[in-house]
Amino acid sequence: MPEPVHVIGAGISGLGAAHYLKQAGVRAIVHEAGPVVGGRAGHVRAGDLTFETGGKNFSTAWTRFGALLDEFGIDEFEPQHPGFHIVMKDRLVALSKERTLSGDLRLFRLLGLRGALQLNSFLTTARRNAGRLNYSGGLIEEIEQRLDHATIDRHFTRTVSDGPVRLFSIIMGAAEPSELYPSLLMLFASGFGKGEHRAIKGGIGRFHARLAKAKTIRFGSRIERVLVEGGRVVGLRIVAGGRAETIPASRVVCALPAHQMKTLIDLPAYARVAADRIRYHPLALINAVYDGPVFRDGVHSIMFEPGSILGHCSANRLDTPEHVRFTLSGQAARDVLDLADDELIAAAENAFSERLPIRARRIRAHIARHDGGICGYAPHFTSVKRDLLRGIAAIGGFDIAGDYLEGHTMEGCLASAEAGVRRLLADRTLPVRQAPMRSRSHDLETQMTLQAAS
Ligand SMILES: Cc1cc2nc3c(=O)[nH]c(=O)nc-3n(C[C@H](O)[C@H](O)[C@H](O)COP(=O)(O)OP(=O)(O)OC[C@H]3O[C@@H](n4cnc5c(N)ncnc54)[C@H](O)[C@@H]3O)c2cc1C
Repeated sequence: MPEPVHVIGAGISGLGAAHYLKQAGVRAIVHEAGPVVGGRAGHVRAGDLTFETGGKNFSTAWTRFGALLDEFGIDEFEPQHPGFHIVMKDRLVALSKERTLSGDLRLFRLLGLRGALQLNSFLTTARRNAGRLNYSGGLIEEIEQRLDHATIDRHFTRTVSDGPVRLFSIIMGAAEPSELYPSLLMLFASGFGKGEHRAIKGGIGRFHARLAKAKTIRFGSRIERVLVEGGRVVGLRIVAGGRAETIPASRVVCALPAHQMKTLIDLPAYARVAADRIRYHPLALINAVYDGPVFRDGVHSIMFEPGSILGHCSANRLDTPEHVRFTLSGQAARDVLDLADDELIAAAENAFSERLPIRARRIRAHIARHDGGICGYAPHFTSVKRDLLRGIAAIGGFDIAGDYLEGHTMEGCLASAEAGVRRLLADRTLPVRQAPMRSRSHDLETQMTLQAAS
């Protein structure tokens, strides 16, 4: 049998890589340090309830995610909130997604003429170029060159930056506008109006269960090191069941966040610098269920103001106003993220109640601490990515997938997995290690490899 490709991580990027490898006829073994699949888009069972602990919403415009839903026969969905409330000038202001993008006069009055024009021009550019904005095309590089000389806050009036623009920076990077760069904002805003946003009925776990099906996954298998000799991958150092072992491996896809990937392998200096530029911001997500509705009076989702420990909070689904997802993100949140569970929940509820008093009693809660956080990319990301991929290409048999390459949505992770697999299988310089008996299947694999690469 041909040697398998070893995939590190069973989040959507790793499972996606195993899926695309399987499509190309290549055997994959997925190593997962934890006991379950899903990573930062995971779920947990708490009695009769299921809590989604990270990513869950998708857009109907996402082609890879949509194709997998079709393949898995998952066809029952729940709509996302049509709008949200944002705390501006100390009050809750209702925004509809549709109208914010097309120009909401009421919002524009709040922002003042200069701010309104800035926001309008930014969103119009994002919307008009939506089809051409991605991390693989040339347009984003032009935008980086034009705008990434300063952080997002420097491009807008204070009211716009602290209000509608912060909404994007908190959701897309768990960070303040002063911590992120406009190219990422442009990319994210361009996807905001595309397609309909939905969640899977029954939870994101259904998707991962199907994606994991018929794959070889070794749970509790933590990769400590990718071993490289003479510029090629030769093995993996693994800790499993408290024991360390080294196994031979000639092809590896590392599907971890950038800050973890770079600790597993020695990258060339220029790629190390590139990887160090990619930022992640920590956050915590509390799922809490109450004995009565918390959201009411047409409020389903709130974006909080700078200085609040809350980034945004939403009803888990449009029809579950008693189930709140509190997201603690942004600068002020980082002061409290290490509090004990009870204190963190109380702090979140207090901050929430300042805007919408909680009148119901909490029945159950679960905290997911995303200490590694979500990816806030880097200024001039295209050149960062170029250096990173040049460094990866210098190591035979090694490739990457993850939230830091093609966008940090689940679709972006799948796109990165597909691209990583394509690059890996196109590596024609790999040593042919198979014994003569195995050469037929190797030929078969090579054919499939070439098909996949073409
Ligand atoms: C709170 C939150 C809300 C989000 N909301 C959305 C959303 O609504 N829609 C959307 O599209 N995206 C959303 N995202 C982003 C999306 O969830 C992530 O981009 C995506 O899940 C990342 O997947 P991944 O496979 O790249 O990484 P991960 O999910 O982090 O997977 C990495 C896996 O590798 C394992 N691992 C780590 N180290 C090792 C090791 N050394 N050896 C072996 N295994 C290891 C981990 O246990 C983990 O399972 C959200 C993220 C968060 C945190």
